[in-house]
Amino acid sequence: MPIYEYRCKECAAEFEQLRSMREADQNATCPSCGSDQGERKMSSFASGGGNGGGGCAPSGGGGRGFR
Ligand SMILES: [Zn+2]
Repeated sequence: MPIYEYRCKECAAEFEQLRSMREADQNATCPSCGSDQGERKMSSFASGGGNGGGGCAPSGGGGRGFR
């Protein structure tokens, strides 16, 4: 399961959550204020700064073709 980044609209906290792709677009529950206003951030693309790269390649255990 991929990790998605979310940002809370209530308290602006940013957090990551492991979700299936199907759930990725749904709001996530914010761990710091408990609201369900966590909106998914677009990672990788549309990130406007040179944020140090890395994390593009799937670091799984080899080429297992599931899905
Ligand atoms: Zn919050």
